[in-house]
Amino acid sequence: MSNYTFRGGVHPEENKEFSRESTFRVYEAKGEMIFPLGQHIGKPARPLVKRNEQVLAGQVIAEADGFVSANIVSSCSGKVKDIGPRQTVSGKMAECIVITNDGKFEQLPGIGEPQADYNTLTPQEILGKIKAAGIVGMGGAGFPTHVKLAPRNPEAIKYVIANGAECEPYITCDDQLMRGHAKEIVEGVKIILKLFPNAVGVIGIEENKPEAIEAMQMAAEGDANIHVLTLKTKYPQGGERSLISVVAGAHFPGNKLPADVGCVVDNVATIYAIYRAVCFNEPLMQRGVTISGDAIANPCNLLVRIGTSCKELMEEAGGIKEGVTCNKVLSGGPMMGMAMTSMDVPLQKANNAITFLQEDEVATAEQQLTACIRCGRCGTVCPLGLIPQMMAAAAEKKDYERYDKKLNGLDCIACGSCTFICPARRPLMQLFKQTKAEIMAERRAAAAKAAAEAAAKEEKK
Ligand code: SF4
Ligand code: SF4
Repeated sequence: MSNYTFRGGVHPEENKEFSRESTFRVYEAKGEMIFPLGQHIGKPARPLVKRNEQVLAGQVIAEADGFVSANIVSSCSGKVKDIGPRQTVSGKMAECIVITNDGKFEQLPGIGEPQADYNTLTPQEILGKIKAAGIVGMGGAGFPTHVKLAPRNPEAIKYVIANGAECEPYITCDDQLMRGHAKEIVEGVKIILKLFPNAVGVIGIEENKPEAIEAMQMAAEGDANIHVLTLKTKYPQGGERSLISVVAGAHFPGNKLPADVGCVVDNVATIYAIYRAVCFNEPLMQRGVTISGDAIANPCNLLVRIGTSCKELMEEAGGIKEGVTCNKVLSGGPMMGMAMTSMDVPLQKANNAITFLQEDEVATAEQQLTACIRCGRCGTVCPLGLIPQMMAAAAEKKDYERYDKKLNGLDCIACGSCTFICPARRPLMQLFKQTKAEIMAERRAAAAKAAAEAAAKEEKK
């Protein structure tokens, strides 16, 4: 048994057996495809196409707008039907480019063709290819990868960590990717290592994926600079900070970045996308996604074009199992996933799973909400060493000053471990997410007010 793990954490039912042996099946979208302009952290991309314009698969249809932003690439050929608001996975409306999919998936010339050996490329050329491909963190974070891989001091990076932990229950698409594309992922790690002259590569995988561990070990064999690390199966082992604490022994506050402690972490799917972009000029057009849960008829791993309707994916997995009621659908897994209110939304770059559940545990917990019994368990499982019990008290009183400054509540990564362990079934993580949103909204309003006052002062002069 592996001893490599972080402090805290919980052991929810893994439920990986629903889909873990399902190798990727390609699903080609049938209906119209929708591309939200903001599929990443940062500023939404700026459209480059107009209504009725013909586009090809692989064409950049919206370009990164500003430093932290990412290109959006069409994954189908067809005509631009509309540019306007559509509902997205989050349930919110957002600006999207809608393309009438002609079903031919005709690609731009040159896509998928072998490229010059990456060893001949400069770091800037590698970063340029990653940026052009529109790659963002595919494990759920959605941070633009070309920005993440360009820290101020590349010489100070000691570890390039490939995140193959996949600790969320039900999700198995990274497991399948590592089993089927281990060599390509190792090549991707080597490409990233070209950017960091003093770094070693570490591929972290939870021990509940023995086939993936073996495949990655074989692929990395003979390369003294790349190591496969078997991690204890514990949630949230795949959290960026959990992984960094295991690999580099470093703990850092929320206002610091992994690069500040000499680490760069990328999900294995992101690394595979980097390999395809750099070696085959292939932009981010498709991804692996797990369709699972105890309410779906045929749980599976699908290889899907980004922009495909989630409704089509649900149907491809056989729809809701006969004789059961699906009370909750999540984008992602049950610990950190976001509740979906509609299936008529497109799959985005960072969406690794759709989970269909018979029981809505959060709603059940809310119905049964009781007072805190001060057992202290939530504090023992928080991977960041926070005190959820006190954070909840401050959040309920709307004491944002204490929540943020004294209790470091904004460091919370919304992993849900505290909610999971709480015997009083208090929906702590939901409260922390809401509190963070309120604090950020308050800050934005204060910044806007200050900017307006400064502009008014300037005008008076
Ligand atoms: S949800 Fe936040 S407070 Fe709760 S365990 Fe996770 S990081 Fe800690
Ligand atoms: S686990 Fe729940 S009941 Fe126990 S201290 Fe934390 S909030 Fe209170």
